[in-house]
Amino acid sequence: MKSKLLFIVVLGGAGILAAQQASAPAPVPVESEPLHKVVFKNDVVTVMHLILPPGERTQYHTHTHDRIAVTLSATSTTNQKWNEAEGSAAPTKPGDIGALTLADASYTHRVHNVGSTAFDVLDIEPAQRPATPSPDVAGPVAAETPSARVYNWVLAPGATSPMHTHVRPYIIISVTELNLKMSSPDGQSGSHQVKAGDFHFVEGKVTHNLSNVGATPGQIVEVELK
Ligand SMILES: [Zn+2]
Repeated sequence: MKSKLLFIVVLGGAGILAAQQASAPAPVPVESEPLHKVVFKNDVVTVMHLILPPGERTQYHTHTHDRIAVTLSATSTTNQKWNEAEGSAAPTKPGDIGALTLADASYTHRVHNVGSTAFDVLDIEPAQRPATPSPDVAGPVAAETPSARVYNWVLAPGATSPMHTHVRPYIIISVTELNLKMSSPDGQSGSHQVKAGDFHFVEGKVTHNLSNVGATPGQIVEVELK
């Protein structure tokens, strides 16, 4: 036992990393990673829901598309790229928006939940990058990749977003429980009691505003395809 310990100390971080890599299962496509559940998929976009219990790691998995991640829970996670050391812990909170633009053909990593509550996140992956991005921007861009723009509407009770137009298809996500009213310029409106994590795919073209007609703070994130 003593000699094994000495062996690890002498080899240092690189040796430990090599041992971890050797013992980890080979990376799988993200859609095959057991904790990433595909909850929506069509020709243009895939939505995956990851719930990672405290203390657990995902398997190493490979993304082959740009990704927007919308966090739904408060915990602390690390990121570890394939063949690299585990990164340092970073806090997460509901409404965090992450944009991953692939620098190469693929991105392989795993996520470790080092906090004490489940890491709950929606991953939105457009199927392709447009050759020419749509010039039609619906509002202030909170994050973007070559394939999507993200709009973040933080709505205090009683607040209403500006009227805006989605020319392109989009996914609307509620980060919070919310009594949401959507109105169009012709005066038509509809109200929906939504839960945190509820989402909906919408084909453009839509002009609307978003109102929080409930008594608690709300947040809506829209991920629009370029
Ligand atoms: Zn909108």
